[in-house]
Amino acid sequence: MLENQEQFINLVKEKNKNKNLKYSILTMGCQLNENDSEKLAGMLEEMNFTQINDYKNADLIVFNTCCVRENAEERLFGKIGEIKKIKENKNVILAIGGCMMQEKNMLDKMKSSYPFVDIIFGTHTMQNFPEDVYKAIQNNEKVKDIIDIDGEIYEGLPIKRNSKFKASVTIMYGCNNFCSYCIVPYVRGRERSRKPEKILEEVKSLALEGYKEITLLGQNVNSYKGNDKIKNFADLLNEVCKIEGIERVNFISPHPKDFTDDVIDAIKNNEKISRIIHLPLQAGNSKVLKEMNRKYTKEQYLNLAQKMLDEIPGLTLSTDIIVGFPGETEEEFEDTLDVVRKINFEQIFMFIYSEREGTVASRRKDQIPDEIKHKRFNKLKELYESRVDENNKKYIGTNQKILIEGQSKYNNETFEGRTSTNKVVIIDKNDNYKVGDSVKVKIVEDHRWYLKGKVV
Ligand code: SF4
Repeated sequence: MLENQEQFINLVKEKNKNKNLKYSILTMGCQLNENDSEKLAGMLEEMNFTQINDYKNADLIVFNTCCVRENAEERLFGKIGEIKKIKENKNVILAIGGCMMQEKNMLDKMKSSYPFVDIIFGTHTMQNFPEDVYKAIQNNEKVKDIIDIDGEIYEGLPIKRNSKFKASVTIMYGCNNFCSYCIVPYVRGRERSRKPEKILEEVKSLALEGYKEITLLGQNVNSYKGNDKIKNFADLLNEVCKIEGIERVNFISPHPKDFTDDVIDAIKNNEKISRIIHLPLQAGNSKVLKEMNRKYTKEQYLNLAQKMLDEIPGLTLSTDIIVGFPGETEEEFEDTLDVVRKINFEQIFMFIYSEREGTVASRRKDQIPDEIKHKRFNKLKELYESRVDENNKKYIGTNQKILIEGQSKYNNETFEGRTSTNKVVIIDKNDNYKVGDSVKVKIVEDHRWYLKGKVV
């Protein structure tokens, strides 16, 4: 934590004494944003604010925005409109940060159309948040704290985690890949890796606190760069898996072009690493992939996926697919379906292409009409769903280790947990185990979106 920020924490803390002030954070987007929100929550708790879910009753509201999908903007503006009304009757500090605020056009729009927003901060200035809050409270100042250049890495920010047994650990920031549809490299800057010793220190302290499952985060985790001893992502995985107490290790998101043999070996040799690996495909046609600037062909993707499935027993794959990229023909879309038929993905996150201003793809004239995009999306969804039941059947009669995450949303009398392949399993509640426990279960039924297990 920056020393000067500690001063601001103390100043705000003093001001908030005996006031019982509440804060609420609304987070959009990916797990990296979730992790940033946990750090914002950590700082706010130190400033004597208490977290509540209902933002309408909060004294300070933070929006941690995402700019990856178009509808995120609509959601944000809708919510700001609601908060404007609340602000008319009550003194509420409104802070908006995250990726969207790093976009020049968005920032201009915020300044001209929403002048009542108290704090606007970017992805590279989150560590200054205590100072921003202090200025907004003390001077009633509108604070804009954004820098365009790549941010530095700040260690030691306070953090208030959402779970007591699962934690995310960011290992790197930014992205160098410039996929032609993606805004992330423009708003998150170039790749910066955290020092391996800092990452391992964080995981070790999480293990001591009783955390069992760790997810290593980054926009492109397998291009992680370490030091002389822990050189790359494979080395880092091996070291994280050695930490006692940590039972399960996930990572998100890797890039197929950087999926080297040593990472495959690390997964194979470490049972702690989840048996579901996310391998974003995006499109199944080599021409479309080239235009997306993904740096692999359909054949290279298929070879890599098959190699991983062959070499790592019990492995399953999940993926991201975008349908309706500019210029995508029906035939080219069929290639995507072909890959889905060949690689039996356990999970597919499907997206309809949406234009992000400032990206290469958004400047193309051959955008696909919405109707065609929706048709293709439905066709892909149908194919994926037709395979879910078949995929579930392979679990029946098998023993699986699950980590109990809480009460099931499917049935009040049951707990819910996940297998190492991220399948939801429900088990009957029993006094012998509780949330956060790892239990061995035998899978007895499949119910499409979850499995039923019996503790063995
Ligand atoms: S790898 Fe591509 S899709 Fe992922 S964040 Fe970087 S540019 Fe975006």
